[in-house]
Amino acid sequence: MKLTGNLLIGAHEIPATEGTMKALNPATNQLIEPDFALGGVEQVDRAATLADEAFDAYSHTSLAERSAFLERIADHLDAASKALAARAALETGLPEAQLQGEVARAATQFRQFADVVRKGRFLQVAIDPAQPDRQPRPRMDHRLQKIAIGPVAIFGASNFPISYSVAGGDTASALASGATVIVKAHNAHPGASEIQARAIRQAVQDSGLPEGVFSMVRGSGNAIGEALVDHPLIKAVTFTGSEQGGMALYRRAQQRPEPIPVFTEMTSVNPTFVLPHALAGRGSQIGDGFAERMLVNVGQACLKPAILIAIEGTGFDALRAAMAQRAAQAGARPMLTPGIHASYIRGLDDLQRAGARLAAEGEPAHGDLDGHSALLEVDGAHFLSETALAHEVFGPAALLVKVRDAAQMLAVARSLRGQLSAAMHLEQTDIELARRLLPILERRTGRIVVNAFAHPQEVSFATIHGGPFPASSDSRFTSVGMTSIERFLRPVSYQGFPDALLPEALRDINALAVPRSVDGQ
Ligand code: NAP
Repeated sequence: MKLTGNLLIGAHEIPATEGTMKALNPATNQLIEPDFALGGVEQVDRAATLADEAFDAYSHTSLAERSAFLERIADHLDAASKALAARAALETGLPEAQLQGEVARAATQFRQFADVVRKGRFLQVAIDPAQPDRQPRPRMDHRLQKIAIGPVAIFGASNFPISYSVAGGDTASALASGATVIVKAHNAHPGASEIQARAIRQAVQDSGLPEGVFSMVRGSGNAIGEALVDHPLIKAVTFTGSEQGGMALYRRAQQRPEPIPVFTEMTSVNPTFVLPHALAGRGSQIGDGFAERMLVNVGQACLKPAILIAIEGTGFDALRAAMAQRAAQAGARPMLTPGIHASYIRGLDDLQRAGARLAAEGEPAHGDLDGHSALLEVDGAHFLSETALAHEVFGPAALLVKVRDAAQMLAVARSLRGQLSAAMHLEQTDIELARRLLPILERRTGRIVVNAFAHPQEVSFATIHGGPFPASSDSRFTSVGMTSIERFLRPVSYQGFPDALLPEALRDINALAVPRSVDGQ
């Protein structure tokens, strides 16, 4: 596929208005062709206006039409798979085979959401029929369904260039809800972003939908992102990235004349607790598994296990040795961007200045942007005295925390901020301690995993990828999984309506066969 580098606003190809940029190959630190257009406030306004104009028609598409559209996107992604994975590999330094898996995951997400739409449960229909004879006063007929919130702005992530990017779960769930979408492409992979945007745009066209259902903008600096968040026609925002960036956009959205929800997914150290009997029996295996997971994607994963907490005693040395061995054997690999690389090196330095000791280091960097692996360690008392040690270092590093006893393990758990996930490795004989740990973790995380690691993650109805701040800005929602659609829905109650005027899902005859609650049953 030939890349044009244009901004894709509705059906239009918009050349650069604010200069151009090139993608960087992080493996060689060289720029790659072609030039990619940068836009500004005017392009955001054009995309938002189109998204608003398309909203009424798109949000009222039938469930069958909308699910067919989502399936067409999946088909176009499948068709582009080879070219997309190859371009994403050039722009990220991640292995092409892995990126083909990401394309497959993205296409699967669209098909899963097509099924969610077709079944109609997400509408959460509730019907409370009229009770004319009710005392002391009659009840009118009330019927509720959820509708899409309005045009949504999506900030694509840098680290999963497909499944969390232009054609990622945010876009799939927003389009499934009936919202129109503007993606702010991440500048770390402009070519991969264009291929995904073209797949979605082709599906819009094939489905005969209004062009404003989907646009992709790109810009340099904060201006374009700020313009998106500020635009009065945008009604919700999703973001995956740094705590600093996410919170800047969140605060901005709350200061608008009309505040809007901003669903950010930001930072997590995904603490792993190894309970004493599991440590004694499987210390080496757990340590090796942990370090293997820490290295996935050169540690640039939101679910990277970054802190392991274990009680000193039988099995601890074996656990430590296995972690150190895996970390020491790891090759240095290119990181996604110069900014992420620099912040990784700074993060390692910060951990050491806060008192963590280097336990093992992997192969030294060859390329300018290579991230080398590192295992650091600290004792529980020091960890509790130094909050900087609990901060995420985005890259192939982790911190081993040796605690004195169960009480100190619980104290470490209590000291942690909100997390996307936490893991407990335990045996039957550890259950009593696990029961004490569990309520502490429940308050601090969106997902708790036993005898496994949080990554990789299923995309299903029971998936939660979210958690208390700073893992996300709203712990009531998930950014991955089938219920992530709920971020873009709001309830509308229709009272005293004639049947013919009601939305189809609320009419007396349930022709769509959607699940409905009638009088709470
Ligand atoms: P980022 O710097 O937060 O940027 C994410 C996106 O938001 C980019 O498109 C960026 O635009 C935009 N943006 C950020 N701050 C903004 C602001 N104040 N106003 C307007 N737009 C803004 O994240 P990143 O570039 O992907 O990586 C940086 C760090 O984020 C990493 O080192 C890591 O710590 C963290 N991160 C976390 C996760 C996670 O899953 N939790 C994923 C990726 C990254 P520009 O690129 O134009 O600035």
